[in-house]
Amino acid sequence: MLHPLHKRITLLLAVMAGLATGVPAQAALRVFACEPEWAALATEIGGRHVESYVATSAHQDPHHVDARPSLVAQLRKADLVVCNGAGLEAGWLPVLLSRSANPSLKGERLFMAAEEVQRLGAQAQVDRSKGDVHAEGNPHVHLDPRRMVQIGNALAATLAGIDGAHASDYRANAARFSADMSAAIAGWEKSASSVRGQAVIVYHDAWPYLVEWLGLVQAATVEPLPGVPPGAQHLAKVAQTAQARNARAVLHTTYDDVRAVRQVAQQGRTCAIELPYTVGGAPGTETLRAFYDTLVNRIVKGCR
Ligand SMILES: [Zn+2]
Repeated sequence: MLHPLHKRITLLLAVMAGLATGVPAQAALRVFACEPEWAALATEIGGRHVESYVATSAHQDPHHVDARPSLVAQLRKADLVVCNGAGLEAGWLPVLLSRSANPSLKGERLFMAAEEVQRLGAQAQVDRSKGDVHAEGNPHVHLDPRRMVQIGNALAATLAGIDGAHASDYRANAARFSADMSAAIAGWEKSASSVRGQAVIVYHDAWPYLVEWLGLVQAATVEPLPGVPPGAQHLAKVAQTAQARNARAVLHTTYDDVRAVRQVAQQGRTCAIELPYTVGGAPGTETLRAFYDTLVNRIVKGCR
């Protein structure tokens, strides 16, 4: 998300560019991002050529969002939608798109990040009627920075296709993002080598990409199925697993059921680690790099 002052400066620069050349400055591409991580990526790759609006906050469960009229209004004026896909927004984005009736939002202008990478947990038979919200494989792909680099390259190609005049800028931004992240990824992997092979419990099955990347082992989920709250029996079973597997921690976000998390942590003789789900979900996580930094640091630090 762009800071308002940054937005104003971008606008001012655009106006000045128009004055200097004698032709009106081209307006920035208006990106409607479903979640903060996609607005952050659009800013990394689009730079000064995009202006992002983000539909949800970092402290909100992105599976469940109200289809508010203000979101419809934003979609109506958007040039490009950058969302997660893989069913994460199945409960609200289709409704918003249909209400916005913006005819340009189709094909490459509906960029779904999870479609650009290999997904974990794709199951042949998932029963949505039981409340499972991960029927199209695990959607939470942004929690692996290696996948984020792949998605950044794909977004650069999409932006170049829509706005050919700035294609070389988008490719250069993606190359820079990829180089920056690759260097950072090596550092994070080194710092997390001390926790490799350790078991963790998670509240929602939001973390498999992070768990796999860092070489952790997911021993159980507090939710019996993704999106389904746990009952007493399930909580007791997860606590038993936590103790038997000597779990490092129960990982959860700010909006998960903290009482259930604490119960499992206490009965399972482990502790809880709160993690930001996305950019802006904790102090000092305003960029993707700072966000991954915080995830890795909190897991490595553990409960002490
Ligand atoms: Zn989920």
